[in-house]
Amino acid sequence: MARKRLLLLTTGGTIASVVSDTGLVPRTKGEALLAQLGTLPYDVAVKDILQLDSSNIQPEEWQLIAQEIDAQRGHYDGIVLSHGTDTMAYTASMLSFMLQQIDLPVVLTGSQVPINVVLSDAAENLRLAFAGAANCPPGVYLAFNRRIFLGCRSVKVRTTNFNAFESVNADPVAEVTSDGLVRHELPRPVGKPYQMRTKIETHISLIKLFPGFDPDLLFAMVQNGCRGIVIEGYGLGGMTSVRRNMIAATGKLIRMGIPVVACSQCLYERSDLTKYEVGRLALLEGAISAHDMTSESAVTKLMWALGQGLDVAQISKLFATNLVGEVTC
Ligand code: ASP
Repeated sequence: MARKRLLLLTTGGTIASVVSDTGLVPRTKGEALLAQLGTLPYDVAVKDILQLDSSNIQPEEWQLIAQEIDAQRGHYDGIVLSHGTDTMAYTASMLSFMLQQIDLPVVLTGSQVPINVVLSDAAENLRLAFAGAANCPPGVYLAFNRRIFLGCRSVKVRTTNFNAFESVNADPVAEVTSDGLVRHELPRPVGKPYQMRTKIETHISLIKLFPGFDPDLLFAMVQNGCRGIVIEGYGLGGMTSVRRNMIAATGKLIRMGIPVVACSQCLYERSDLTKYEVGRLALLEGAISAHDMTSESAVTKLMWALGQGLDVAQISKLFATNLVGEVTC
């Protein structure tokens, strides 16, 4: 069987970092990352596209990365993207929406410790990502610590442990066992044929509700250009309705054409606005349920939906639609 042709795109992150007077900075090039892996059963090409701590990966970088993947995809069987861990779940989610129905596996990975440190997790994570890029079905994934997740379900949950990522409300796509990479079959949502769509609206907010939050602040944001809001409500997604009336504010915002998406500040399990009055009233006002999506996916899906020129009603419909495995409706 012909060897798989894979491409490593590098963007920086701890995996590529070295010690400097000002702290860890990403300086190691892709060829040097590859050199640490020993012999691989694939033909691997390398391209360095960015050299950033992922705290500096923003919408402009998402677009650049998506465009690079789109430009390269005809030449390879799979693509690995090395990336800092801090915002990797956001990038994985956004790429999932920008590159819906892509025809090859794209696997993001990084590490908690730089590759040039003896006991680093970097080489193992990179090898895993290459195995995923060679063997997983087409789609966007995140590979870390012997498990591969759907990109749009990944969340960074630990700051230092090697077990830094989890797949929230969805099983891992694959894991390493003594039998090698064991894949779990997942239904792939059927959508429109692949077409890169990188237009996004970045003026949105993610609000974590806390007792005492003043809903007037939402209008201040809108006056300053905010075009959509994701609210991490309590438990199943409930919002305050007494004194600081978030539900009335939600209705007012929606009537102004600002989509308000309600999700939960609990990491696991679904939000459900139908159960309690403090959720139901928000639904009646037009709040859009994020169901069991991660906040990373809710934020990036909202940016993407607004970028496609959709209005509140269309965005509401889109959030009830599973595009890339991000939601169980
Ligand atoms: N600050 C680093 C980054 O996100 C952390 C890491 O890669 O683990 O670029």
